[in-house]
Amino acid sequence: METIAERIKSALERINNATNLAHRATDSVKLLAVSKTKPVSDIVLAYEAGQRMFGENYVQEGVEKIQSLQEFSDIEWHYIGPLQSNKSKLVAENFDWVQTIDRLKIAKRLNAQRSPHKKLNVLIQVNINQEQNKSGIAPLELVSLAEEINKMPNLTLRGLMTIPSAHQSERELSASFATMNDLFNQLKDRHSQIDTLSMGMSNDVEAAIIGGSTMVRIGTGIFGERVPVKNSAEKQQ
Ligand SMILES: *Cc1c(COP(=O)(O)O)cnc(C)c1O
Repeated sequence: METIAERIKSALERINNATNLAHRATDSVKLLAVSKTKPVSDIVLAYEAGQRMFGENYVQEGVEKIQSLQEFSDIEWHYIGPLQSNKSKLVAENFDWVQTIDRLKIAKRLNAQRSPHKKLNVLIQVNINQEQNKSGIAPLELVSLAEEINKMPNLTLRGLMTIPSAHQSERELSASFATMNDLFNQLKDRHSQIDTLSMGMSNDVEAAIIGGSTMVRIGTGIFGERVPVKNSAEKQQ
């Protein structure tokens, strides 16, 4: 079986190959290692292999990991799960990034709960295929939400995130990524600090990078399959 270090190396090679294909610089795409449901010891192995950016989906689980790994002070923690209002304080106090802002109310709460000493980096999640029961805002609502967030002193709006529909052909998926890239570029023209387009997971890294992604989020491809356990963190939010 491949080790976590070997899988990270393969993930970086995939990024390298895809950026070459897209005629983009290798360092224009960052790797977020999605460690949800995986033990702290796996994160340490990834860290020892050079990985510094980790993504967590569940507030309680993520905060426990952050607190137990405090000595690894150069880890950058990204919250990538759905965010409920009653959990926003823990997120504001512990994470470096939140990728799943999908309404003004959550942004206001995070801004109020974040310490003014270190800004929280945020991405707006876009429901690019306008699926029902999927988090994210509709593309048409994007400009006004971005304007509001951009005024908040304790948040830095860094860009957009999306999880496209899993029920699309390759061609439709590429079109979704291309639309995201257009929205990203439009927003960049309005807000010069915007630099992050988070899209692409284990199964669609290449298409996402060709579509303009600047950050791919890989879980299974680094840490292996997630074992579904009853009452596991996969169920709680
Ligand atoms: C779980 C998750 C990932 C990683 O998915 P894999 O298919 O395991 O690579 C990426 N992004 C989000 C938002 C996730 O919840």
